[in-house]
Amino acid sequence: MPLPPIPPRLPLAQLPTPLQPLDRLSEWLGEGVRLWVKRDDLTGSVLSGNKVRKLEFTLAQALQDGCDTIITCGGVQSNHCRATALLCAQLGLRCHLILRGAEPDVGDGNLLLDQLAGAQIEFHPARFYQSNLDSLLNAAKQRSDDAGHPAFIIPTGASDGIGVWGYLMAADELRQDFARAAIAPQHIVCATGSGGTQAGLTLGARLLNLPSQVWGVNVCDDEAWFLNKVRQDVADWRDRYQPDFDLASLDTRVIDGYVGAGYAMADEAVFETIASVARLEGLILDPVYTGKAFHGLLNELRRGRLTGSDLVFVHTGGTFGLFPQRDQLAPVLAKALVEQP
Ligand SMILES: *Cc1c(COP(=O)(O)O)cnc(C)c1O
Repeated sequence: MPLPPIPPRLPLAQLPTPLQPLDRLSEWLGEGVRLWVKRDDLTGSVLSGNKVRKLEFTLAQALQDGCDTIITCGGVQSNHCRATALLCAQLGLRCHLILRGAEPDVGDGNLLLDQLAGAQIEFHPARFYQSNLDSLLNAAKQRSDDAGHPAFIIPTGASDGIGVWGYLMAADELRQDFARAAIAPQHIVCATGSGGTQAGLTLGARLLNLPSQVWGVNVCDDEAWFLNKVRQDVADWRDRYQPDFDLASLDTRVIDGYVGAGYAMADEAVFETIASVARLEGLILDPVYTGKAFHGLLNELRRGRLTGSDLVFVHTGGTFGLFPQRDQLAPVLAKALVEQP
């Protein structure tokens, strides 16, 4: 099935990102699999990560709708909010962030960048945020509209039918990467948090006939939540762009079991994986998304669930989220985890 016409898009991300083999890591694993990483942490310097791919489409829509203010939401260390705040400054838009969690005395990581970009920020305790998010977003929009600044609300993680385009187009990039490297990976693995990246890749793999099965490793909630969320995002995409797309043709797969104590809370084993990958490959993962997901990928490889000759991990960014968790990282730095030259 061909793609429908591509909607308006702003060229904000540094694309295409490289697809690189991880040979030392593959050898260290000794499972006979060649690991590859799609470097979406290189979509930009401070824009690093997966959100800018989605925001190319979301912000184009906001401008088309005549808005001069963007309202969005997430955790205090949200990568999505950081990318949005920086892009708003880059495009001359006003940015209003509704964040989950207490306001720290001093901003760190992503929050520091939000503040630097001049975003207007409100903080709410987690419980209150969870039960009032829609009304908080709508109230902020009402205030902005009333003040003569038409506002556009971007949902959590820019995961909706518009944002799906970001990773639908990334799937097309992967198709070209695979052709260039002459590989046909059986599996593509990514972290999944608000579902949009997984939704775009899963839809793209289907529409573009990729040889690969797409897996999301959930970093919060559970398998049922993500099966439903991916379906919702693709249904929204279908309704907006491709009404005859058959949702039942979608093969959504979740690797559950690596959430640990909860969102943004990683076990020591995840920090050990982060340190091992950094030492073997100079690749930096984060404890909230990519570290957890990659840790899951390695475990599932060892357990024989992910078989085949080539396996692709999509590095979705998150580096700035590592710094606020420096205290948890400290104990593993002294450990001899991998043999180094
Ligand atoms: C948001 C995010 C994800 C998850 O992507 P979703 O599209 O929200 O599921 C993965 N990794 C990083 C670093 C992120 O910031």
